[in-house]
Amino acid sequence: MTRVVIIGAGIVGANLADELTLRGWTDVTVLDQGPLPLTGGSTSHAPGLVFQTNPSKAMTEFAGYTVRKLLDLGCFHQVGGMEVASTAARWEDLKRKHGWATSWGVGAYLIDPDECVRRWPMLDQNQIFGALYVPTDGLAVASRAVEELIKRASSRGARFAGSTRVTGIEQANGRVTGVKTHDGEIPADIVVSCAGFWGREIGEMAGMTVPLLPLAHQYAKTGQLPELAGADPVRPALPILRHQDQDLYSRQHGDRLGIGSYAHRPMPVDTFAEPGEVTASAMPSMLPFTEDDFAPSWEESKLLLPALGQTKAEEGFNGIFSFTPDGGSLVGESSDVRGFWIAEAIWVTHSAGIAKAVAESIVDGRSETDLHELDVHRFEDVQLAPEYIRETAQQNFVEIYDVLHPLQPRLSPRDLRVSPFHARQRELGAVFLEAGGWERPHWFEANASLLKDLPHDFLPPARDAWAGQFHSPIVAAEAWHTRNGVAMYDMTPLKRVEVSGPGSLEFLQGLTTNQLAKSVGSVTYTLMLDDAGGVRSDITVARLEPELFQVGINGNIDVAYLRSRAPEGVRVQDTTGGTCCVGVWGPLARDLVQPLSAEDLSHTGLKYFRGRRARIAGVPVTILRLSYVGELGWEIYTSADNGQRLWDALWRAGQPLGVIAAGRGAFNSLRLEKGYRLWGTDMTTEHDPYEAGVGFAVRPAKGDFVGRAAIDGRSEGTSARRLRCLTVDDGRTVVLGKEPVFVDGTPAGYVTSAAYGYTIGRPIAYAWLPGSVGIGDQVQIEYFGRRVAATVAAEPLVDPGMERIRR
Ligand code: FAD
Repeated sequence: MTRVVIIGAGIVGANLADELTLRGWTDVTVLDQGPLPLTGGSTSHAPGLVFQTNPSKAMTEFAGYTVRKLLDLGCFHQVGGMEVASTAARWEDLKRKHGWATSWGVGAYLIDPDECVRRWPMLDQNQIFGALYVPTDGLAVASRAVEELIKRASSRGARFAGSTRVTGIEQANGRVTGVKTHDGEIPADIVVSCAGFWGREIGEMAGMTVPLLPLAHQYAKTGQLPELAGADPVRPALPILRHQDQDLYSRQHGDRLGIGSYAHRPMPVDTFAEPGEVTASAMPSMLPFTEDDFAPSWEESKLLLPALGQTKAEEGFNGIFSFTPDGGSLVGESSDVRGFWIAEAIWVTHSAGIAKAVAESIVDGRSETDLHELDVHRFEDVQLAPEYIRETAQQNFVEIYDVLHPLQPRLSPRDLRVSPFHARQRELGAVFLEAGGWERPHWFEANASLLKDLPHDFLPPARDAWAGQFHSPIVAAEAWHTRNGVAMYDMTPLKRVEVSGPGSLEFLQGLTTNQLAKSVGSVTYTLMLDDAGGVRSDITVARLEPELFQVGINGNIDVAYLRSRAPEGVRVQDTTGGTCCVGVWGPLARDLVQPLSAEDLSHTGLKYFRGRRARIAGVPVTILRLSYVGELGWEIYTSADNGQRLWDALWRAGQPLGVIAAGRGAFNSLRLEKGYRLWGTDMTTEHDPYEAGVGFAVRPAKGDFVGRAAIDGRSEGTSARRLRCLTVDDGRTVVLGKEPVFVDGTPAGYVTSAAYGYTIGRPIAYAWLPGSVGIGDQVQIEYFGRRVAATVAAEPLVDPGMERIRR
């Protein structure tokens, strides 16, 4: 039987032991440096507020599972959750949040100030616009849940040992073999670190960077309040409360209130003492209360809850827990030490759900809920630097309750990674947003002058204030020039690897759905599936030599996956940083590029989905005839040192043709007009290729590949749900993604990608909908509480015959 050691008996470790033993894996040992069951970790003092609604579908589902499981265990007070708005901006944002709740299946209501006060009589009605109310939210009794989980897992065979500190991770031949403790070694086939904010140290023992920063966060209890006199000391009645405009939250403790604050300065905690004695008021995860930091929050609390004027913050502490560069949890197996897993930076709220997903991953090889947003491999190398983790984790603390636009870039650190075209892009007034540490132009101010010459029917309607953020009408001009002239797009940040060595073809064939056994020069769009047939990535494979493939992938998670699967002799090398790529697209693309090259770039000379090595203006390049925007053209790759010269040569040659540089704004619109999916947004492991509309990339006849058996017999016709293309009927409401979609007045799905379609003169939204919803059907998208009519359209919206690309 597989031997598992779990490090940490907080809410995550205890849930994981429960989930593993539930699946029949009973050789489970849970070690904690602290005494059991109150170990002194973050869980031991967690106030336990569970607000389920989250922009992430996965996190919302994990919270929902936690609620159901803890209710079952008798460790949850389902008092409901209220997030109040004290500003107009927050009130608007709560409407958006209400949309997420609907999209992810959580019952939620927007309630007016009268109802807020009915539910929370101490609130000053004049301070608020209303609240988002979720009746199924509530309070986890986290420490009691740990006790119950320990009992249940123990009854199935798990062993729990307190006061046992792990001091080393044992490994041999790239696999974990056990853990070292003060009392000796414990052998194991799988070790899972659930060490909470101590996770960095455990990671170091296994040679793994765990990008989290422990930060202190203030929590205080008030004195007794006459308004709560006689309240049940154990069973709270008031809903949990968030006052996000002031970075505060509150819950009832009998006749007192507890108040948590994120309004204070970030307080990173760098060193922890070896845990000593643990009591309810002295734990290694608790630091002394710094009253001055709390003072402004106390004043704000009194404004919202005037009854607090009669009392004071009586007992407080600065409690420690984990923050990460993007605010997400950290889950996954080390790429270097097989069998060493982590499950950290996880709130009580998501603990049971994530523990279930980790148990599924370990036992079945995949989790039912897609985990890419939590995958520890999602970070780029630059994002693993201690300076980066420190700065971004603190920024996430500061912004934890802020109203954040989906495109909002971080202000710092910036300029971490720039493409070789960066200097030229700046000269053209590029407006950069950031992703994966890369600076990526969204539009170019130099193109503003083109707006006046745009045909009237290409001019988009004005956007509302929200959709207008991080956007410019210039995007329309860039889209028009791509469809009617020629544009240069910086594709450098799109991740790519080289797969090389004997056996490369067989390796890639075994992981992908499409036929790759084609001649050198072939380029193939294909999918990587998981064992259950879910789409774990879509990739583009260019066969440059018999045993050398350039593979365009979706991110670091793919690199980690490919490396973990590569057999002896096959090399997977991330070439992204050392190379660059410019997409030259538009009907005039050939007029621009052909004169610079001796290669035959005619339609038959280099066919669609073919590539080759070539020279362009003397620069050695790899040129692939591909187009993510649906126009004639090529992706042209070269090494980073040659990048600027390549850009300059193309730019000079393009001047007589009116070439422009174009950004991600236009790119996103054009790709949606062509129906090209974006992995992670439009589809994930939760979807099979047919429902996601990429079944054309599956060739079962080619032989076996991961996931083939699972999708055998499936087709678009058998899909219970489909990714559908919608166009917005009013021609002007641009939604941004994650909005709920209603069919016959009932929530039936949610938006994935969205953009204005300049060529078709309407906003576009892709959405997951029941298979019964067909082309031409009417649906409604809810946008900030308003229902907007939309129609299911046949796709692609532009150039279904592919005449624009194949010429
Ligand atoms: P922990 O509970 O810290 O458990 C990790 C365990 O690992 C510890 O018991 C520790 O002793 C053990 N360990 C570490 N190193 C070793 C080692 N070398 N050997 C053996 N054992 C080791 N979340 C919510 O969802 N809602 C809230 O309202 C909420 N409020 C919070 C308020 C405060 C003041 C704080 C500080 C946190 C709050 N959180 C809240 C966050 C939540 O408490 C934590 O995210 C959660 O408890 C983490 O659980 P865990 O099991 O990962 O970590």
